Formats: sequence, C-alpha cells, structure tokens
Amino acid sequence: MNIGFIGLGIMGSPMAAHLATAGHTVRGYDVHPEAVDKLVAAGGQAATSVADAVEAADAVITMLPNHPQVEAVVFGQGGVLESAKPGTLLADMSTIRPETSLEIAKAAQEKEIRVLDAPVSGGEAGAKQATLSIMVGGEEADFALARPLFEVVGKTIVHVGPHGAGQVVKAANQLVVGGIYALVGEAIVLMEGCGVDAKTGLDVLAGGLAANRILDLKRESMVARQFQPGFRIDLHHKDMGIALAAARQADVSLPMTGLVAQLVAAARAMGHGSLDHSALLKVTEQLSGA
Ligand code: NAD
Repeated sequence: MNIGFIGLGIMGSPMAAHLATAGHTVRGYDVHPEAVDKLVAAGGQAATSVADAVEAADAVITMLPNHPQVEAVVFGQGGVLESAKPGTLLADMSTIRPETSLEIAKAAQEKEIRVLDAPVSGGEAGAKQATLSIMVGGEEADFALARPLFEVVGKTIVHVGPHGAGQVVKAANQLVVGGIYALVGEAIVLMEGCGVDAKTGLDVLAGGLAANRILDLKRESMVARQFQPGFRIDLHHKDMGIALAAARQADVSLPMTGLVAQLVAAARAMGHGSLDHSALLKVTEQLSGA
C-alpha cells in the first residue's frame, strides 16, 4: 500500500519504520525534518508537507500529540481532507478527545474519505517491538481494510465500536495506567521510608497478585529514578483531561481518576512535564518531605 504517515515522534517513528520494512511505500512528514530523515534511513520516503505525504496515499496514518495538531493536519489548508483522494483510509492513531474523532468522521464522509480512530497502548517499547494494543472505532468494513496495516505494528487489535469508541477505550486505558504508576510510586516510597530495599520488594510484588506490566517493565528504572520518556507527563495530563471530560459527558463519577489527574497535574506544576509518567513517583516523594 502507499501510506502517508504524519507525526514521526517517539511512537510514529518506529511504527512508520515497521510499515516500510513490511514492504509498504511509506511517505512520512513531521514538522521536525530530522524525524523525516530517520524514516528515510529506515526505508521510507521524505514528504515536504502533509499534502505531499497524502496525495498519492491509499491510507494515511496520523500519530500526533493532541487534538489541535490532528485538527491542523486533517482540516488545515493542504491537509488530509483537502489533499487525499476519495476512498483513502485515514487512521488517526493519536490519543485525542472522542469529540474530535466524531468531527473528523463527519467531515471526511463528505469527501468520501474513510476514517478510523485507532489509538494505541503499549508505549515506546510496544511501538519498537510492534506489539501495540490497538483499539479501533469506526465502520466494520474500514476496520477490515486497515487490519493488515495494524497487524504490522500491533498484536492485540480490536474493533471496539463506532467512531470515537477507540478513544473512549484509550481514555479508560490511561486512567488505569496512571493509577498503577501512582501506586507503584507509593509502594516504593513506603518501602524505602521503612528501610526496606524497594527493588527486592517489587520483585516479590511482581510475582503475586499485584503483578502488572508496569512492574515488569519499569520497576528497575523507577527505583533508580530514571525518568527519561517514554511517555511524557504532559501527554498523560492531556489523557487524564480526556477521561474526566468523557466522564462528565457520560454523567458518571470517577473519583480515583480525579485523584490521579491531580497527581499528574502536580507533577507538571513541579516542572516534570517532559519526564516519563513514571515520574509520578517524584510527587509522592515530595508529598512525603523528600
Ligand atoms: P511525540 O511528541 O514524540 O511525537 C509527535 C510528533 O508529531 C512529533 O515528532 C512532532 O514533531 C510531530 N508533529 C506535531 N505537530 C505536527 C504537525 N502539525 N505536522 C506534522 N507533525 C507534527 O509524541 P508520541 O509520544 O509519539 O505520542 C504521539 C501520540 O501517541 C500522542 O497522542 C500520545 O498520547 C500517543 N501515545 C503515546 C505513547 C508513548 O508511550 N509515547 C503511547 C501510546 C500512545
């Protein structure tokens, strides 16, 4: 397939490279030229604009930070809706608010462009290893069309409902992930505060009922206070906002999500926005007088 790939950051870069390695023609664009150079080195092609990336594409993938960037790339001058040919499939794999996914789907219909919201979970490691979980909202037929592309970058690929449903599932994912990071951080602070070796303690937790993927992947770096992203606190702050706004709209109460959102906001206020979300540990430490 001819694929236009927009947004070649921490996640988009390895995903686009996997698609190129799998034999697809991947024409990539990013506002940072060095990100495009990296794709070319991995077997892709350089595009000089969004229009240049999508004009000849059968499928377009966007992997952008948040809804303003997705809106600019999709609705903007020379954007996807203006430049892609009718019949093109647009899979937005960014994490954004569900309303924007619905707006895109509505506008795209008029241009005969097929749209899926297809956010991912699995982090940088999942993108590099092509083992992402992909939660997809949109039409069943478009999902079937996109599935072979998703299979190149992911392992768990599920059609979860109509347009916007993928983003709702991703919001649910993020509130769970945020909660686990907060609690692993508290476990470390507790053990260290009591003079117990946290690394040894977490090794035991990882073999019992508290076992989880974050303990598996991040316990060593958290104990060592290595917080290089990964997934930035700034992006998690965005995601907690999406979850709370969706809860408000659905008229449901999510008290734990509210608390975790405040911890993430505190981490940002302390200047940790560009650190990995495991740096929630720093908030707990500060609250504990460290
Ligand atoms: P990132 O900031 O590393 O990458 C985003 C890229 O988009 C950057 O290279 C940036 O230059 C580019 N960009 C921004 N505006 C653009 C525009 N108008 N045109 C072209 N390129 C533009 O972010 P990331 O960590 O790769 O995350 C991307 C999305 O995936 C976010 O929505 C995030 O929430 C989600 N996500 C991230 C992770 C993770 O672990 N990093 C995991 C799952 C989902």
